[in-house]
Amino acid sequence: MILEITKFGHPVLRQKGARVEQVTAEIRDLVRDMFETMYAASGVGLAAQQVGRAVQVTVIDVRGVKDRPSTMEIDGSPVDVKDHMPVVLINPEIKPCGNPASGPEGCLSFPEIYSDITRPEFVDVTAINEKGKSFSFRAGGLLARAVQHEVDHLNGILFIDRMTTDAKRELKSELDDLQAATKAKLKK
Ligand code: ZN
Repeated sequence: MILEITKFGHPVLRQKGARVEQVTAEIRDLVRDMFETMYAASGVGLAAQQVGRAVQVTVIDVRGVKDRPSTMEIDGSPVDVKDHMPVVLINPEIKPCGNPASGPEGCLSFPEIYSDITRPEFVDVTAINEKGKSFSFRAGGLLARAVQHEVDHLNGILFIDRMTTDAKRELKSELDDLQAATKAKLKK
């Protein structure tokens, strides 16, 4: 089922997600609906807050992006990213590493709004999957950016929080309009 994507101004986007104690059928249904919603919106990642649920669940698939490469290592060895997509991260723990890298970012909760964001170029990730199994990998490139963006969502952090002051100032009227529209819709 395609779910409605919450937009900037919805309070759930600022809520920290609760840890998933057990991967129940309800969580698996949520994961399935999140993938359907993300693919319908042509997104690379989606966090549970973006479908109105403050829990530590995010889904990512970078295969649709051809011009921005991703890398993945498991136990120190490079693997083919395609073989590990899509990926479900439940209760993810991350450790960003490497040099800061700047790159364009968008967010399904901020339609038509894009900005360059600086984040560490790699990230070590440990999470459980939809089967409840723990797994770890190191991500680079677009995948590293997507993981950090989505894990931010799970902690109530949005990409506007990581924009430069100048970028945020330039986008201020668009952000204000979006926030006002979302709040007006919530009141109905
Ligand atoms: Zn986002």
